Amino acid sequence: MSAKSRIRCDLDLDDRTPGRRLGRLSIPHSRHESGYGVIPVPIAVLNGGEGPSVLLTAGNHGDEYEGQAVLRDLIRELDPTRLKGRLIVLPALNLPAVLAGRRDSPLDGGNLNRLFPGDPNGGPTSMIAHFVDTELLPRVSWALDFHSGGSSMEYLPCAMVRAANDPALAVTLKAAMLAMRLPLGLTVQATQDTRTLPAAGLARGVAHVACEIGGGGSLTPSSAAAAEGALYGLLCHAGVLELDTPSAPPPRLMNVAGADHFLFATARGLFVPEVALGQTVTAGQRAGRILSIEEPERPPIALHFARAGLVVCRRVPAQVAPGDCVAHVATDAGT
Ligand SMILES: [Zn+2]
Repeated sequence: MSAKSRIRCDLDLDDRTPGRRLGRLSIPHSRHESGYGVIPVPIAVLNGGEGPSVLLTAGNHGDEYEGQAVLRDLIRELDPTRLKGRLIVLPALNLPAVLAGRRDSPLDGGNLNRLFPGDPNGGPTSMIAHFVDTELLPRVSWALDFHSGGSSMEYLPCAMVRAANDPALAVTLKAAMLAMRLPLGLTVQATQDTRTLPAAGLARGVAHVACEIGGGGSLTPSSAAAAEGALYGLLCHAGVLELDTPSAPPPRLMNVAGADHFLFATARGLFVPEVALGQTVTAGQRAGRILSIEEPERPPIALHFARAGLVVCRRVPAQVAPGDCVAHVATDAGT
């Protein structure tokens, strides 16, 4: 199997000439409608003076919009002469999913954030993962990947990092979360899936952070502002940009440490929640009930939180099926 990417980038990624350059990744995608067709994924490189390189990505999931908006604004508005370093910016990383407004790609069903390190001979989504892993991550020391709850979930605004075994790396990631000007900083152990972009970044020694802001397939004034604060907070922390910004209160640092932090539907039906996003719950507290759609005479099925915590994420659509996550909690770090 060839380890070389089949994706062509029309920018020379090693050209450190100061300035702003816009280009495309061309992903080969031969199909009935377009025999020699490619998928043109936008990429921008903003080069300033000497300094670190930062990879900024959004549209990893196509139905998560805060990062897509804020990175487009950055590409147009940030003067590269203000940078001490380089930004590599992809505001629509999985372009087919972004155009479809879907979490996964309509071309191959690929969920990009479950396909790292990717495959140069796989479908378009796997080819994107492989390009990021082999061509972009080795060129940067910092990375920020923007997420939200997508169409099916909604998050309180939070910075998010993986729990690192390396103590020095854990300190680095915690300091980055403190700088991101969001109300929460979550360290996630319960979903340590190794197929994610941040996992690929950490495996390559990149200080890779993510954020989860908003969701429900929407974009709001507050969620867009939170994403902007996270972006510029991290850029200043990484040392590529200096801004005079008012100080922000430090985030509440929390953990998502175990499977019992997540609550799943056990039946098909209409989920009637009894707790709200941002509410503190106790172990055993009733989260809501599932009403049968086809058999209204059936007694509701109650769902209970397995452990106490802050509800940081909730399901948006009211209809649920067995296995749908309806909420998850986080617990204060150190508890
Ligand atoms: Zn996402």
